[in-house]
Amino acid sequence: MQLVFSTCAVCGKLYPADRLTVFEGDCFCPSCLKAETVICTCCGERIWRDDVLGDSLTPLCEYCEEYHYSHCAGCGRLVKADEPHYPSEDAPGYCERCYTNHI
Ligand SMILES: [Zn+2]
Ligand SMILES: [Zn+2]
Ligand SMILES: [Zn+2]
Repeated sequence: MQLVFSTCAVCGKLYPADRLTVFEGDCFCPSCLKAETVICTCCGERIWRDDVLGDSLTPLCEYCEEYHYSHCAGCGRLVKADEPHYPSEDAPGYCERCYTNHI
């Protein structure tokens, strides 16, 4: 079987085609893929590093950040949408720690 080579769209180096990942129509080598894109923690979708939301521990795509996560009103920490505690009906959501310490 003949080995097929393709160029990485970012660094322009030749790689065996099966080492490259196609993302949005371009081929990426493993290191460029890691440098340019991240996987959303929530849905597993690959996204551009520039478009990433969430925080460094929890990279999120736009959709998941909006629908599955929110931010603690106290410390600004990223919390899962079902995690925040609400001190009262119309109060903003707090993370476990802020809720226990300050409310
Ligand atoms: Zn590359
Ligand atoms: Zn996502
Ligand atoms: Zn907090």
